[in-house]
Amino acid sequence: MNKISGIFGKRVFNDRVMKEKLPKDAYDALHQHIESGTELENSTANVIASAMKDWALENGATHFTHWFQPMTGVTAEKHDSFMSPDQGGGILMNFSGKELIKGEPDASSFPSGGIRATFEARGYTAWDPSSYVFIKGNTLCIPTVFCSYGGEALDKKTPLLLSMEAISKQASRLLALLGAPVSKVITTVGPEQEYFLIPRELYDMRKDLRLCGRTLLGARPPKTQELDDHYFGAIKTTVSEYMEDLNQELWQLGVLASTEHNEVAPSQHELAPIFSTANLAADHNQLTMEMMKKVAERHGLVCLLHEKPFAGINGSGKHINWSLAAENGENLLKPGKNPIENTRFLLFLCAVLKAVDDYQDLLRISIASASNDHRLGGNEAPPAIISIFVGEDLLEVLEAIAQGKTCVPPKARMMDMKASVLPDIKKDATDRNRTSPFAFTGSRFEFRMAGSLTSVSCPVYMLNTIVAESLRQFADALEKAEHTEKAARDLIRSTYLSHKRIVFNGNNYSEEWVSEAERRGLLNLKTTADALAHFTADKNLKLFETHKIFTETEVQARQTIFYEEYCNTIKIEALTLLDIVNQDVIPAVCKYTRALAETIAAKKAASGGQLACRAESLDMAKLSARTDCLYDKTLELKQAIDDTETMTMNRNAAEYFCRKIIPLMEQIRELADELEAGTASEYWPMPSYQQLLFT
Ligand code: ADP
Ligand code: MG
Repeated sequence: MNKISGIFGKRVFNDRVMKEKLPKDAYDALHQHIESGTELENSTANVIASAMKDWALENGATHFTHWFQPMTGVTAEKHDSFMSPDQGGGILMNFSGKELIKGEPDASSFPSGGIRATFEARGYTAWDPSSYVFIKGNTLCIPTVFCSYGGEALDKKTPLLLSMEAISKQASRLLALLGAPVSKVITTVGPEQEYFLIPRELYDMRKDLRLCGRTLLGARPPKTQELDDHYFGAIKTTVSEYMEDLNQELWQLGVLASTEHNEVAPSQHELAPIFSTANLAADHNQLTMEMMKKVAERHGLVCLLHEKPFAGINGSGKHINWSLAAENGENLLKPGKNPIENTRFLLFLCAVLKAVDDYQDLLRISIASASNDHRLGGNEAPPAIISIFVGEDLLEVLEAIAQGKTCVPPKARMMDMKASVLPDIKKDATDRNRTSPFAFTGSRFEFRMAGSLTSVSCPVYMLNTIVAESLRQFADALEKAEHTEKAARDLIRSTYLSHKRIVFNGNNYSEEWVSEAERRGLLNLKTTADALAHFTADKNLKLFETHKIFTETEVQARQTIFYEEYCNTIKIEALTLLDIVNQDVIPAVCKYTRALAETIAAKKAASGGQLACRAESLDMAKLSARTDCLYDKTLELKQAIDDTETMTMNRNAAEYFCRKIIPLMEQIRELADELEAGTASEYWPMPSYQQLLFT
């Protein structure tokens, strides 16, 4: 047995373990329940729970928890032990079917966006049998959904599961019409996760990193990523030991962590798993982020998952690779040898083009956050404008169809590798356009706008839902058609013609694209504050209702939660910045200014006023003037924050934070960074960028 297969899935109650531990009828009933949603009898649930408990105890677990993904962005768990007293003063280890299936955590501690009135604290967690139960530490974790007393979703997982059903339903309708029926269609997802690693002792000395996850100030070091020497570079020993340890943990949890490499920025890395069903991928990504942080502790490191921990260098994203597969695993987005004749592929492709064009706003919202705003539109991540890259070859196919042609001349694309010792490499049918927010990469789409902290669930449920809507419209149209194949070809052509404005193969980072996109009428929702208002647009409410993802109340609640989260994030950052400037930065600069003054006095005294003190005097003057400016700005920021005290955290407040507080914070940062550059390093009260990134 090799190293990986020996430990892989060791702590997961997966299908293999179920087969081994469950009586055949319970195993079959559970599968029926997962696949067709049939009720699970109480007695069967008890048998399953008991087998889970025995397996958990064998593997050292003492507690169990319902593990869920509330709207906070992190996972939640409340541990209960298996223990209950027996009559003879000893203990019994118990776990019932009821405890497996349903939990009642206090919902009042989680964001509900007003769904839950304060007096009604009850919330429910319900077992999601489509994701495996696993052991983390000493606890058996049961993946669950989380909803209110009234049944409204309070988590990120519920809409994901519903959207998987919605897209499966519509895609299956379409496939049946094309003469190749399937019983279901699966959403496949592989999220690439970027992160930073920095030494723990330096992290501990930065209030901003500890409280906000990102640096709020810090002068630019002389070197950052301009030499491109970090990307795919040799991995440092401390980091490779960390990665190895992390892989071991993830493999045991059944996470298919597969690729790892250094990223563009110094101290930045990436981990990509092998793709899986969307629901599992979402759970696994949450686990991956949690383990990344935990394992870092063991190595004297801290893992930063914030989208933009350091200004001036690349931030971290999470590329969501997404596709659809028939139940036998066949990828529905594979163009095949001759894409122009592949009606099924072209229909699915056009469904995505149409969906992304019709619902640009929802995709933008699905990845919107105060932290991701720092990334989007910088010259490192796609801009906030959504467009699709399809690659040269596919564009040629689509254009040919638009002109009524039925074939395109085949061409071999050989890369000229110059040196004859190197093999000819057939050029990828889709060159990698790294600047595109939404790229077709050969047999899947890659949504690159998601930030490193974004839960996989949000972008994926949006994608599923909007594509389900295109597929629904396609299926409706084909159902009415006399000649399916011909109608399908017409549909492909008309859809492409109506939505080709969303296709863009060029450089998304360029200035020209911004004006070109405007001419095309594409949305450019630069900030979260700009984007969120669109969530409750009529067309979006209708979409969610049609596919039974959310009621109007649920969408409104989510919008409220996002506004609150956005405002609170910025507020905490602004308060932290004030704290650092007042308690650390200004005192440090004063101390250094005093040292300069004392040096001048000492030099003058020692030389009877003869020694030159020009440098010290000029520095002192500059520092003092800047300190005054900085001080004034802090007063302004303080007042601006005080003014938010009476505000409800809604759209107006979000606008205020975006247009008033953020610019003030930026001005403060600029002054503080100038002061840092002009102050002797031994006086600076926290580790510099240079120390943080190059230690
Ligand atoms: P790249 O650097 O080209 O973006 P990576 O290998 O880092 O590629 O990541 C590609 C990701 O896409 C992996 O997680 C992989 O499993 C995933 N992927 C591949 N095929 C599919 C598919 N059909 N559906 C969803 N994800 C996929
Ligand atoms: Mg990628």
